[in-house]
Amino acid sequence: MVIPGEAPFLSSASLHGTADQTPCRILLVDDDNALRRTLPHVLAQEGRSFDECPNLGEAIARLERTRYDLILLDYRLPDGTGLDLLDWLAHARRDEAVVMISGEDAIDAAIGALRHGADDFVRKPYHVAQLQRAVHGALHKARLEQSNQIMRQRLQRSERLHRYLVERAPDLIFTLSPDGLFAYANPRVESMLGYSGEQLVGKSFISLVLDEDVPRIEALLRNTLDGQRHGQSAEVRLRRCEPGTSRPGASLVTVALNVVAIQSQTRDDDPHRPPDGVYGVARDISERKRAEEIITFQAYHDQLTHLPNRILFKDRLELAIAQAQRRGGLLAVMFIDIDRFKLVNDTYGHAEGDHLLRGIAGRIKQTLRKGDTLARLGGDEFTVLLPDIAQPEDAEIIAQKIQRALDEPFDLRHGNFLATVSMGISVFPRDGEVAELLTQHADIAMYQIKRAGKNGFRFFDPDLNAHYRERITLENDLRSALANNEFELHFQPQISLSKRRVVGMEALLRWQHPAHGLIAPTAFIPVAEEVGLIGDISRWVVDTAAAQLARWQGLGFTDLRLAVNLSSQDFDRDETIDRVADRIAHHRLQADRFDVEITESVMMRDTAEVMGRIRRLRDCGVGISIDDFGTGYSALGYLQKFPVSSLKIDRSFVTGLHAPGANPIISAITGIAHGFGLHLVAEGVERADQAARLQSMGCDIMQGHYFSEAVCADDAERWLTHTEHLLHHQPS
Ligand code: C2E
Ligand code: MG
Ligand code: MG
Repeated sequence: MVIPGEAPFLSSASLHGTADQTPCRILLVDDDNALRRTLPHVLAQEGRSFDECPNLGEAIARLERTRYDLILLDYRLPDGTGLDLLDWLAHARRDEAVVMISGEDAIDAAIGALRHGADDFVRKPYHVAQLQRAVHGALHKARLEQSNQIMRQRLQRSERLHRYLVERAPDLIFTLSPDGLFAYANPRVESMLGYSGEQLVGKSFISLVLDEDVPRIEALLRNTLDGQRHGQSAEVRLRRCEPGTSRPGASLVTVALNVVAIQSQTRDDDPHRPPDGVYGVARDISERKRAEEIITFQAYHDQLTHLPNRILFKDRLELAIAQAQRRGGLLAVMFIDIDRFKLVNDTYGHAEGDHLLRGIAGRIKQTLRKGDTLARLGGDEFTVLLPDIAQPEDAEIIAQKIQRALDEPFDLRHGNFLATVSMGISVFPRDGEVAELLTQHADIAMYQIKRAGKNGFRFFDPDLNAHYRERITLENDLRSALANNEFELHFQPQISLSKRRVVGMEALLRWQHPAHGLIAPTAFIPVAEEVGLIGDISRWVVDTAAAQLARWQGLGFTDLRLAVNLSSQDFDRDETIDRVADRIAHHRLQADRFDVEITESVMMRDTAEVMGRIRRLRDCGVGISIDDFGTGYSALGYLQKFPVSSLKIDRSFVTGLHAPGANPIISAITGIAHGFGLHLVAEGVERADQAARLQSMGCDIMQGHYFSEAVCADDAERWLTHTEHLLHHQPS
């Protein structure tokens, strides 16, 4: 930046333009008529025009109307002296050049005339050349003065313009002395920083800079003053004036700062001369910063709860791990999942779900310290980072606090909701040294809590990991099991003691895993339900069982009943139910020999859809068996509502037959079955005395290891034809 040493506003041509070409008006004031006539000729030149008058009065009258460039003025006039006119001109602040022409030869007259403001004095008689020189000289001088005047005016205008630009600038414009003190600040400083320009003069610029930014800005100013010729820029936070003082306070303005050295230009420009100071412009970008912050906030925070999101959590966790590593300290990660959240969301709608999420987030947050991070990973999953714990048990204390924070129910639109959470905790470095592993391990521990019945917390245990991995493999293998034909149906016979023969078979699913061998349904059915594979599996079961029954009916076992187990999820859709009817028709089965076993939980889902599907099965002749009867719900109203055809006494009652109080339950169940006209089957009969006891209590059909385990179709068929194999056990 160059401060002009010389204003280059006027070209030299305009300054030195000669009077000759430019139009110019000359007034002759003389009482000598002859002279008035001749002079215009003598002085004639292109551009010059002449007026004349014989006395002072007329001259003033003309001057009042017209501006002249030059007056040729006689000293003695009929009504006064030339000096009077000079006085008039001075008084009227006129700038006409005047050449006095006079017969007076006293030097005093000449001096008097020049004193009164005449530009030249020519004594009569004169040489024409002498007069011409005087006229030329006076005109030239007048022109010069005019030019100067114009230049001054232009300079003034220019300065006013620049001052206006600087003072009205929307940015803070300032200059600093070479030692970094304010030399000037435009009025914008008042609204931007709360100081007046004068207050700042002499104050150091650095004193306004936020401490954190000081080293950067000091370096920037140093570079600028060290002759860095290019402008430098930086973003800096300046401290606004503490109201009522002249000291910087806590409120900040973020500015984009541009500074450049002030280098006055001189003729002998020395590039190594130190600068005269710093010129700076600071633009308030607080608004832009705020907008940027909002955008960043959105990228790193969850919209619903305004908590940090997964990305920010990972960031903070990584940072905390690095710090803990340096310190040799511990940290904990908690994985929190809300229990039964899906229920709220599905039953009451998303708005209530959101309300609950926000409420729970708020309560959890209250239990944490300032440096802890609570993040929402999505859905109903939250994570907590405890970046600095003294021992793992500290995390346990927080978990307990979180549980207590949820003791009070949440006020939902449909009533109170008591929320519980399942929490898993992992500790650095014990359970992992990287962010992902720690989070994953906390997740695994949480999952264990879920499986163990929710509402609780536990630490990660490396053994869990093995289970977890198994579970993942299981899930993957299960997906390909159907295609790879790895399922099998085994059949467990049901014996009528009174008829002394097999009256039914229960089809039980087995998974012949290529690596792990035979897997029981309890190990994989819940997984299949969870990952949505159960529908396909159930249809395979229905197909296979129906084909098997067709074969046995074909062999003449037309009284034989065959039961399949369906999952409660099969009643969420039509496919499996339709498949049963379809297979019965396809194989032309006697439909009343086909049973579907369902648990009481299906009955409890008392919706029109579920009820409709059960009816449809019943309408096509299929029997409905309540499996594990007596273990689920005590409300038996559904027995009246639903067309149930048989009850299966759960194994637990059979096992506990001798326990006090067990008999009344079995008696009650037998009573119910007889009362409602239902078939009754006892499950899990393992011993002869159990069979005898059940028979004496009115239960005739039984199933259990005492007779046979579930066996493959061929073996089951053998037992159909040789019932005595089974019946050799029969109590006498
Ligand atoms: P469930 O329907 O109550 O089947 C009876 C279970 O008790 C069978 O176990 C059977 O092997 C076992 N069991 C039979 N007699 C005795 C005994 O005397 N003592 C003992 N301790 N156990 C006995 P399994 O085959 O492991 O099946 C377990 C459960 O898996 C079944 O209970 C049923 O709920 C489910 N399940 C089996 N097959 C299927 C299927 O094809 N589809 C669906 N959705 N679930 C199935
Ligand atoms: Mg069953
Ligand atoms: Mg059962």
